[in-house]
Amino acid sequence: MAETHPSELRQGTHPRGKNTRFVIIGAGISGVLMAIKLRERGFRNLVILEKAGQMGGTWRDNVYPGVACDVAAHLYSYSFARNPTWRSRYAKGPDIWRYYHGVARQFGVLPYIRYHQEVMSAVYDDGAWQLTTRDGEVYPADVVVTATGRLHQPVMPQIEGLDSFTGARFHTARWDTSIDLAGKRVGVIGTGSSSTQIVTALAGKVERLSVFQRTAQWVFPVKDTPNSLWTRLGFWFSEKRWKRYYLQLRSETEARGKAATSSEEGRKARDQVCFDALASIRDPDLRAKLTPDYAVGCKRLVFSDGFYNAVQHETVDVVVDPIERVVPEGVVTKDGKLHELDVLALATGFDAHAYIRPMQVTGEGGVTLDEVWRELPLSYRSMTVPHMPNFLMINGPYSPGGTSSVVGIAEAQVDYLLQLIDRIAGEGVTLTPREEPSRAWLQGIREKAKESVWGTGGCQSWYLDKTGTPTLDTSTLSELQAQLAVPEWGDYIERPR
Ligand code: NAP
Repeated sequence: MAETHPSELRQGTHPRGKNTRFVIIGAGISGVLMAIKLRERGFRNLVILEKAGQMGGTWRDNVYPGVACDVAAHLYSYSFARNPTWRSRYAKGPDIWRYYHGVARQFGVLPYIRYHQEVMSAVYDDGAWQLTTRDGEVYPADVVVTATGRLHQPVMPQIEGLDSFTGARFHTARWDTSIDLAGKRVGVIGTGSSSTQIVTALAGKVERLSVFQRTAQWVFPVKDTPNSLWTRLGFWFSEKRWKRYYLQLRSETEARGKAATSSEEGRKARDQVCFDALASIRDPDLRAKLTPDYAVGCKRLVFSDGFYNAVQHETVDVVVDPIERVVPEGVVTKDGKLHELDVLALATGFDAHAYIRPMQVTGEGGVTLDEVWRELPLSYRSMTVPHMPNFLMINGPYSPGGTSSVVGIAEAQVDYLLQLIDRIAGEGVTLTPREEPSRAWLQGIREKAKESVWGTGGCQSWYLDKTGTPTLDTSTLSELQAQLAVPEWGDYIERPR
């Protein structure tokens, strides 16, 4: 038989390679990205299992009033799928969903998505994986890619009497769009990025808006300027111009993100912007309520062009007395006051540590993911897991965050994973990371993260695990790309399939 040229291995045209079976879990930004890249390489034996009836992940689930992305739209796009027509600097949720749906269609990915297929278990045996869905469908795979998102499982607050509320009540990621909010008394519990977008959108549009704040947030003011027709035409006709703008946004974001992980000195300029914004609040009592007691950037910053205006609206109350319980008519605070409500929105965030759970994963020798992750979610560079051959993750535990657009991070990780895939498919092998380098890598990441403002800033946040250590890599996108440029093959165990 004729020798196979190395480029054919990379293209997936190897007799064994091109038939490699891929199952991607999740049809959000990362899952679609991986499918695009696999198709580009000539792989066709792939399927994306999506638990919902639509693709789009976060941008399918979050449909609350004011939903938008506070990362500039051009940067929150795939670097290879330019959208010259973003109407303003920051894009609204539905426009983002439309963009990603359009790209999935344009790159021929939609037919590979199987909807209503929630994966319950993945079991590795004899060189291959078997995935079983809630309905009992079984999908075999040589390579599993999890693209299940980090901020996906809503956290419901443990508040006495929550179920007794007789008005409409929902988590922000499950917003009931059938309810007309005009003339309603609306309560929002929480003051993170989701809440502040909702409050900004609803202030003055509902009868009364009560914002229940447990901890004040630092707010970095941004301006959502429209992209003029000329600007859009410029991006349309000149890819070079668009690329320049993309790179400029990327370095601005990295510089701001880097501030989170640098010295106090390095954070000064950014912090001052937040202090000045807070100082713009006219009423000293309200300003005091909104003044955080921890370092800027300890919690993920709120980027907003209207939150501080919104909370100064005469129909908005910022309630800082702790919530005692919920009753059928509304929320009772510790001072005994009943805040009567028609609608109660729970802007209480997500379980960022659930990762790919509740899926049950069993790797080689019957070792389960729960066992491997008993102490800490051990992985090699966030993307592979000891004892789990050919099990690849995008945006897995300790991926970078807060320093770049998550889209760029996913692209860097996918570029790395494709190098593993070339080998897995081209050479018919399994790759499993060794435990030692995985532990060493994780320790290094955790030590750096502990020193960042996320760890030292004196706050609680979804960044922290139960030991109080941030679960994010502090690397910027440029640093990550450099780290991931070439795999250290010695850190993997390679076996024939
Ligand atoms: P979050 O930042 O985790 O905020 C949750 C809020 O709920 C906090 O204010 C928290 O208070 C409060 N809370 C939780 N349980 C509570 C309870 N039992 N009683 C009272 N208050 C309670 O959640 P999020 O706003 O949904 O944002 C999560 C992340 O999603 C963001 O950090 C960001 O990464 C991402 N996001 C991004 C965008 C974007 O535009 N790119 C938009 C929205 C969200 P404490 O602070 O006291 O815990």
